[in-house]
Amino acid sequence: MTAQVSNAPIIDIQGLGKWFGKHHVLRDVKMQVGSGEKVVIVGPSGSGKSTLIRCINRLEEFQQGDIVVNGHRLSETRNLPLVRREVGMVFQQFNLFPHMSVLDNVTLAPVKLRGLSPAQAQERAMSLLKRVGIAEQAHKFPPQLSGGQQQRVAIARALAMQPQVMLFDEPTSALDPEVVGEVLDVMRGLANEGMTMIVVTHEMGFAREVADRVVFMDQGQLLEDLPPAEFFGAPRLERTQNFLSRVL
Ligand code: ADP
Ligand code: MG
Repeated sequence: MTAQVSNAPIIDIQGLGKWFGKHHVLRDVKMQVGSGEKVVIVGPSGSGKSTLIRCINRLEEFQQGDIVVNGHRLSETRNLPLVRREVGMVFQQFNLFPHMSVLDNVTLAPVKLRGLSPAQAQERAMSLLKRVGIAEQAHKFPPQLSGGQQQRVAIARALAMQPQVMLFDEPTSALDPEVVGEVLDVMRGLANEGMTMIVVTHEMGFAREVADRVVFMDQGQLLEDLPPAEFFGAPRLERTQNFLSRVL
């Protein structure tokens, strides 16, 4: 399958401003993501990457501007759960429920929030667990799995809600180096199937290979938004060049 990129933005971030108290952490951020597009966000620690993607499913509130997700204006919507289920999120620390089996982790939200019957949810969950390569672990508990396996469960859990967009916040940063590849492989597969993805990562190889655009953030500003060949080959700003010289 080839990825289709349409013109209609599925995410439209408009002049976004966010403060934590007096600390101005997002400054007039503008970004559009089309259906099927893959955007990788990079930047130094503390630059606002997590805060930005947490605003997209309103895990964080914002004070200025707006975000439109699949036609829903976040500042106005009264139906936050409806927006949230269109946006899947995968965190650095997996955030699985440790006392629930892998299968129960994946079926919980579709039964509670999507109205699937337990049997339907289990069928969907098993097919997703197969897709991320861990169907045989379905009855184990998260602490019995490796970090890479847990992160693949977290991806399956997010996909079980059939989101329009997947957000990843440093999904491999907490993993041992030998299991980073298996998680990136799953993400690559999703990208090839045409999923719209916004990925915060330090994996520059992944960015180069998978991203349609690489976005550079520094001190709450979105400073650069370029196709990967240009971003890595000829970044426009000195701040980007300095960042790249530290991470490459
Ligand atoms: P990044 O993901 O790029 O490392 P973050 O979005 O986590 O950056 O943080 C951006 C800035 O906001 C940092 O200065 C951080 O200390 C601050 N910050 C993040 N979360 C909170 C919070 N819940 N309360 C106060 N300040 C926060
Ligand atoms: Mg972060």
